[in-house]
Amino acid sequence: MRILVCGGAGYIGAHMVKCLAGHGHEITVFDNLASGHRAAVQWGTLVVGDVLDRAALDAVFALQRHDAVMHFCARSLVGESVVEPYACYRNNVVGTLTLLEAMRAAGVDRIVFSSTAAVFGNPVTDPIDEDHPTAPINPYGASKRMCERLLEDAAVAYGLRAVALRYFNAAGADPAGRIGESHQPETHLIPNVLRAALGQGPALKVFGDDYPTRDGTCVRDYVHVDDLAAAHLAALALLADRPGFHAFNLGNGTGFSVREVIAAAERVSGRRIECASAPRRAGDPPTLVASGARAREQLGWRPRYSELDAIIETAWRWHRAPAY
Ligand code: UDP
Repeated sequence: MRILVCGGAGYIGAHMVKCLAGHGHEITVFDNLASGHRAAVQWGTLVVGDVLDRAALDAVFALQRHDAVMHFCARSLVGESVVEPYACYRNNVVGTLTLLEAMRAAGVDRIVFSSTAAVFGNPVTDPIDEDHPTAPINPYGASKRMCERLLEDAAVAYGLRAVALRYFNAAGADPAGRIGESHQPETHLIPNVLRAALGQGPALKVFGDDYPTRDGTCVRDYVHVDDLAAAHLAALALLADRPGFHAFNLGNGTGFSVREVIAAAERVSGRRIECASAPRRAGDPPTLVASGARAREQLGWRPRYSELDAIIETAWRWHRAPAY
């Protein structure tokens, strides 16, 4: 198939492109390079453009017939979404709407969409399955939920086939070290921990140690970025026989606290990691762990990286010698 990967120069998008190329698909990467990296596009053809630019999208669809779209473009920082909600909603919601309109005009009827555990807000169950109510608590989560609703409505009205994949905490890197996580600024836990281990960043700030969890720090479900990519491939296959809108939660089903992540990174790196207690970060729920049952049953998806140390090992290899 020929797949348009919007946001294919970003962290998760680039791993998706690698996965698609490995399965023999042809790829067009469409990315405005605002936070993505040209050097991350090592497979397929890069078109520099913005999903808000309808004419640019029309030009891509006019040039070649695409069988499906995978859509990773987003402003994904929760804190930024709170202080700049217009930018968040414009990029995430208007960008998705523009893309869907361009797809419809071009007769492309399949999309796999990057969603997030943030659509659930403060969870009322642990683990979180797909029937858990969606009640986002910040503009980022709300924008992704709005996109999901758009996909649901488009499925009914126009016959769009769509899967929303709600990632828990994407982590790790290409084990061969070709692509990895490189955000400016970096806000995520594992990169910050590893940079502290390398002496490249300040002591790691542990945001909150008085949560109702086993050691007082937040618990998250870390899933390897290559496993996320594999789930997208399975979602694409599902859409061949299952029209309509589908949502899946993607995680390992096991939670690790911030302190457990630090301990794992110390084991993997063989270094002591300086850390300091800091106030809670606004909008962080104490525990977010996915129920992987539906993804297992309907997508046949089983993460290959179920051990936290193995996930961190791939990230450590990347952070010691990042290619970009
Ligand atoms: N966190 C932390 N120090 C950091 C970065 C993150 O203590 O420098 C915590 C954060 O509060 C959350 C967890 O680590 O509980 C995972 O945060 P991350 O930003 O990686 O992902 P999120 O859960 O926000 O998607």
